[in-house]
Amino acid sequence: MFIKDLYDKKKPIVSFEIFPPKRDYDIDTVYETIQDLRDLNPDYISVTYGAGGVGSSDKTLEIASLVKNKYGIEALAHLTCITSDKVKTKAVIEDLKKHNIENILALRGDIPEGFELEDDRDYSYAKDLIKDIKEIGGFCIGAAAYPEGHIECDKLNDSLIHLKEKVDAGAEFLITQLFFDNDIFYKFLEKAEKHSINVPIVAGVMPILSRSQVEKMIFMCGASLPSRIIKILNKYEGDSESLKKAGIEHAARQIDDLIRNGIDGVHIYTMNQPEIARENVRRIESLKEQLLKQSI
Ligand code: FAD
Repeated sequence: MFIKDLYDKKKPIVSFEIFPPKRDYDIDTVYETIQDLRDLNPDYISVTYGAGGVGSSDKTLEIASLVKNKYGIEALAHLTCITSDKVKTKAVIEDLKKHNIENILALRGDIPEGFELEDDRDYSYAKDLIKDIKEIGGFCIGAAAYPEGHIECDKLNDSLIHLKEKVDAGAEFLITQLFFDNDIFYKFLEKAEKHSINVPIVAGVMPILSRSQVEKMIFMCGASLPSRIIKILNKYEGDSESLKKAGIEHAARQIDDLIRNGIDGVHIYTMNQPEIARENVRRIESLKEQLLKQSI
């Protein structure tokens, strides 16, 4: 099923992101994660592609195929292009098709440290990949969005212009980079509307689990850190269990507020830890019940 059709049918769509195990780990380690996540009844699960250089790209197809064909959950395969060329990329896309994968999150990818970009490269931006997937046909295409602007782009307005180019090239839904303050997301939705970006924009939510994880993320993606989060990090320094609990609670409150504000969907970065998603889903379900009662 095309993911864009899910967004047409109901609100909110709840989806999860998982990543392939690191190269030295057995792929079996992710099976349990998927089984646990399946019990939470997600609308779809996305599988990252070589993100941060820790995953292994060829595993994305294997895991996405498992999600879709063994566990019967709609799968979204991430695909990056900056270090690839058209021939290799076409082969990956054809493989996805052979495995019944119908949805691709088309990304440029981060430029690995020390990687020399050739002047005559096939891909410079995600929109180039989107065009190629569209030309091949048979896929619903998603793309990444950045509520605080992309880290390489100085002006949020330029980020929005580039986002619109991705939508014009064929992206049918957008998933955002994590953010810790919902007001940033709401302002971004308003700006996107002004740029005539009229596809579903899905909120990416990452529960904080540790100080090092937060530091890594803010340096990688430039997300701003509200004082609420800084207070949590300071309060529970040296008490990892309490920090994790407080982080999950913050994410659950974020999601609660997002749903009350009628957003299209939430995409939970599970970091392959089903217990994070479990608590969030429990809260989403009880909120949906409440909202339903209020509307009757
Ligand atoms: P693009 O949309 O191409 O943008 C890249 C930069 O180029 C931006 O600064 C943009 O403003 C600029 N730009 C775009 N068009 C133009 C133009 N015409 N002229 C000048 N500048 C332009 N990475 C992975 O490696 N694997 C993953 O699985 C993965 N999954 C992700 C999932 C989500 C939801 C998100 C938000 C990010 C993910 N990433 C992943 C990270 C992503 O690859 C990086 O953020 C990357 O740096 C940008 O990718 P993009 O597709 O957004 O690029």
